[in-house]
Amino acid sequence: MEKKIKGDVIVIGGGPAGIIASVASSRLGAKTILIERYGFLGGNMTNAGVINIRTFNDGKGNLVIKGIPYEFVNEIKKYQKIFTPGAENLEKDDCFRQYPEITKYVSQEFVLSANVKLILHGFVNDVIKEKNKIKSVVIFYKGQKIYCEGDVFIDCTGDGDVAYLSGVDFIKGWGNKNKLQPLTTTFIIGGVSKKHWPKVKISKEEMEKMKKEFEEGNYPCPTYPPGALFAMPRKGEIYGNVTRYPADITDIFEMTKAEIELRRQVWKVIEFYRKYIKGFEKIYLQQTFTQAGGRESRRIIGEYILKEEDILECKNFPDNIAKGSYPIDILVPDGSGDIWKELKNSSYGIPYRCLVPKKIDNLLVAGRCISCDYKALGAIRVMAICMATGQAAGVSAYLSSKKKIPPRELEIKEIQEILKKQEAII
Ligand SMILES: Cc1cc2nc3c(=O)[nH]c(=O)nc-3n(C[C@H](O)[C@H](O)[C@H](O)COP(=O)(O)OP(=O)(O)OC[C@H]3O[C@@H](n4cnc5c(N)ncnc54)[C@H](O)[C@@H]3O)c2cc1C
Repeated sequence: MEKKIKGDVIVIGGGPAGIIASVASSRLGAKTILIERYGFLGGNMTNAGVINIRTFNDGKGNLVIKGIPYEFVNEIKKYQKIFTPGAENLEKDDCFRQYPEITKYVSQEFVLSANVKLILHGFVNDVIKEKNKIKSVVIFYKGQKIYCEGDVFIDCTGDGDVAYLSGVDFIKGWGNKNKLQPLTTTFIIGGVSKKHWPKVKISKEEMEKMKKEFEEGNYPCPTYPPGALFAMPRKGEIYGNVTRYPADITDIFEMTKAEIELRRQVWKVIEFYRKYIKGFEKIYLQQTFTQAGGRESRRIIGEYILKEEDILECKNFPDNIAKGSYPIDILVPDGSGDIWKELKNSSYGIPYRCLVPKKIDNLLVAGRCISCDYKALGAIRVMAICMATGQAAGVSAYLSSKKKIPPRELEIKEIQEILKKQEAII
């Protein structure tokens, strides 16, 4: 069975970028449809359990991201009164800690209250084009084939699926397909003793023992033990971002291998903690998330490619549409460490041209697949910045649809004026 639906602006992917893009466009009056492949919104925040949203401020008490992302996170905050162990002050903390079940609910209510039409369980895996324009994106669902037509499309899939399907050029990895930041299966463990909750305290002696096992190759994950462990709201529960596996998230065979290997790492690392950390003897696996989380895949080639030096030198551009303050943080592909580069100043600008792909006339991209080199990606991949690029893409898509002008030809001043009215910092 075939069906056709139509909107002015079609947003594909309901993660940090897509949620904000759809709200920005819809609030301005564009008939906006948001298509998400899972049965809930949130992207990595919910489907991969990435709990720390970074970063709304410059580390000196000044916000660098406000507007709709700030409003969205404050909405989450309202529901998190129960417990936020030290990561909730958007003006000061380096991250905002969100809890995925709350975010799933808040995200859906946030987009619905902006009058966005939501399609869940909609995996977009084809596009219909007319010359340089996308006519519709195609969803297959249990025998239904749904054509979703629009004036303007915003690719917020994280992996640039729509851009790829439309023939936009892209770069993947570090100039070499095998070099991509690793994937991670995050987890929550329960049964941690009082001694270790909410703060995980590991003795010198325990660390020495784990270090020795790691050096002898007996630790199940490539990261140094015990890895990043944070308290969750319920007593005795701790979250772990510890596992690593190098894979290309856009290749189903590599992705399958990654899911299997990462789950093995989760089970083995829990056994390891039980054996080496006092107070962890009775821990059990409470939860893993819907999928292994991807940090890096396709980055589109846009009208400008944001570079490492732009980030480090804290450049601003005449077509700034957002700011960021997160430094360059790249996990090396084998997961054994990371490359960290501090900024020379406190924030950098993100130009509008990074959201505008070459070749296709009615497509914008927001989130981690925007046009940048792999080092700049290490900075702009964090979720507050993905949200901010989402807001700019939403505004631009609305203007493009209303004026019947391709996003590439819009007056940048007009986009910036609307963003400022929406309290975005540019
Ligand atoms: C383990 C890990 C730790 C991280 N740590 C941090 C951190 O501490 N702080 C931080 O801020 N960031 C962190 N990140 C990075 C951050 O999570 C991502 O860069 C960010 O989520 C990207 O946002 P996005 O909206 O571009 O894409 P995503 O979050 O990937 O969202 C994309 C959405 O599109 C949907 N989708 C994908 N393809 C299709 C399709 N074809 N059709 C329909 N829907 C589709 C997906 O289901 C998803 O909902 C981490 C990432 C990982 C994996």
